[in-house]
Amino acid sequence: MKKNGLFGKSLSHSISPDIHRYIYNLINYDATYELIEFEENKLKENIDNIRSKEINVNITIPYKEKVIPFLDEIDDVAKKIGAVNTILSKNNVLKGYNTDYYGIHETLKQYDISGKIFLVLGFGGAAKTIIQYLVDNNAKKVYIASRTPEKYKSSFKKYTNINYNEYKHKFVKKHEAYSYEKSLNSAKTFIEFISYNKLDNICGFAIINATPVGMFPNIDGCPVCENIISNFKLAFDLIYAPNETKFLKLAKSLNLITINGLKMLIFQAIKAIEIWTNKEIDDNQKNKIFLFFETKKNSISTYTLDNPVNEELKIKKIQNSASNMIDIQNDKPVDNKLVDIDKLENKLKLRNEPIYIIGLPGAGKTTLGKALSEKLGYEFVDLDAYIESKSNMKISEIFLQGEDIFREVEKKALFEVSKKRNTIIATGGGIVTLPENRIFLSDKPNIIYVDRDCINILSDVNLQNRPLLKDNPNKIFEIFNKRKDYYNSLCTYYVKNDSSLEELVENTLKILKDKY
Ligand code: NAP
Repeated sequence: MKKNGLFGKSLSHSISPDIHRYIYNLINYDATYELIEFEENKLKENIDNIRSKEINVNITIPYKEKVIPFLDEIDDVAKKIGAVNTILSKNNVLKGYNTDYYGIHETLKQYDISGKIFLVLGFGGAAKTIIQYLVDNNAKKVYIASRTPEKYKSSFKKYTNINYNEYKHKFVKKHEAYSYEKSLNSAKTFIEFISYNKLDNICGFAIINATPVGMFPNIDGCPVCENIISNFKLAFDLIYAPNETKFLKLAKSLNLITINGLKMLIFQAIKAIEIWTNKEIDDNQKNKIFLFFETKKNSISTYTLDNPVNEELKIKKIQNSASNMIDIQNDKPVDNKLVDIDKLENKLKLRNEPIYIIGLPGAGKTTLGKALSEKLGYEFVDLDAYIESKSNMKISEIFLQGEDIFREVEKKALFEVSKKRNTIIATGGGIVTLPENRIFLSDKPNIIYVDRDCINILSDVNLQNRPLLKDNPNKIFEIFNKRKDYYNSLCTYYVKNDSSLEELVENTLKILKDKY
C-alpha cells in the first residue's frame, strides 16, 4: 500500500484526508493519507524520511517555500511561483509541484481574465499563486493590498521594470529557478501594491481574499468593508471553512458573484493524486468528486469548524484519517461503500432537480432529452420550443432583434423552467455564453454534456434553422472552440454522441442508472 501525507505545522483543521480517502476509493488507488505535523526544525528530518520511504506529500503553511531547497527537481509552474505544495518521491528523487495553481485554474477558468482588473488581498503563498495565474492569463492590472505595501513598493516598480530584489525568493542556486518576480517581469500585467486605507476608489472585475481573515475560528473577521467590495463584480475567498465567510456574505448581499475556496482545494488534491499515480482522473470522476464535497459543504464547515462542540469529533477524525474516512454527518467510519452513499445522495437530488442537457447545436440534445424523458417518466422541455410558445415568435425572429436580446429572453426562460421538478431540459447550444447562465448552472447537480464532433454535425444536421450557422455552417468549429471549456466545466455527466442515437440513449442511461 502506497503512503502519502500532508506536511504542515498546524493541521487539526485539515479536511484533506477526507478528500484523499474519497478519491482513492473512487479510483481504486491503494494508498493511505496521513497528517504529518511538525515544527520547522524538523523539516529536514521529515524530508529525509519521505525520500527514504518513498512517501509522497502535500505541503501546507508554513513550508511551501521552505521545502524548496531540499528538493532535487521542481516543475515549471512551481518554479514560476516559488512555492511547492506537492512532492513526488520516487527512486530517491524528490520533485516539487504547485497544484494550487491548477485548483485556481479550475475555479476561475469559466471567467475571462484577460484585460480585467483585480484586487488581491494579502501577499502570502496563496496570493502569489493567484497573482501568477492572473498574470499568465493577461489580467490588465492586479492591485495587491498589503498591510505593509512599502516593503514591496520601493523595489517593485511597474510591470515593465520590476526589480523586486527585496522580495527575492531564497531559491537554491542549483535549480536556477526563474522565480516569481522574474516571470512577472516579462508579463504585461500592471502590478501595484497598495495599502488598505487607499482601496476606496479601486474598482474592477474581482476582489480576491488571500488572507486568513474570516477563517475559523475568527469567523467574524472581514478583510475589507462593504464599500470596497461593492466596487467589484465577483468575490473569491480562498477560505473554504466556513463555507461562506463574512466577506462572501457581504459580497452576496451586494449581488456579487461569490466563490469560496472549496473547488480550489478539491482540484489541487485531484492534481496531486494524478501526479503521484501518473494517471489522469477522467472528467466524469472529477465532477463526481467535486459534487460529492460540494453537496457536503455545509456539513464540512459545520463539522470541521463552526461548531465548537465538534472539537472532540474533529480530533477523532484526525486520528482516523489515515485509516478510515468519517461520515461527516453521522460520525461513523465510512467503509468502502462510499459509492452507495453517493448513489443515495444523487438519487434524492435527481428526484428534485431538473436534468439539463447542454452541447452544440445538432449534438442530439433534443432527441436524447425526449428519449430519456420517456424512459424516466420525466417531463421534457425543449428550451427553444418553450421560448417560441411563450413569445409567439420563432427563434430566428427573436434573433433578428439581436443576439443580446435573444440571450436575455433565453436566460429568463431557463430560470423559469428550472423551477419545474422531474424535468429534462434540452438547452440551446449558446446557453453557456452568458456568464449569468453559467453561474446559475454551475451548482446544478444534473447536467449532461452531449459531445458530438463538429464534422458529424455538419454532415448529418440541417443547420438552416440555426441563426448563428445558417449562413456559414463551418462557423461551428469556431463556436465549439469558444464553448467547449464551458460545456466541460459545467457538466456533471459527459456522453459522446459518435454512433447511433440508440447508443447515445443507452450510454446515457447507463451513466444515470448508477445514480438511481
Ligand atoms: P500566508 O502565507 O500566511 O499569507 C497570508 C497573507 O495574508 C499574509 O502574507 C499577509 O499579507 C496577509 N495577512 C495575514 N494575516 C492578516 C491579517 N490579520 N490581516 C490582514 N492581512 C493578513 O497564508 P497563505 O498560504 O497565503 O493562505 C492564505 C489564505 O488562503 C488562508 O486562509 C488559507 O487557508 C487559504 N488557502 C486556501 C487554499 C485552497 O485550496 N482553498 C489553498 C491555499 C491557501 P500582508 O502581510 O502583505 O498584509
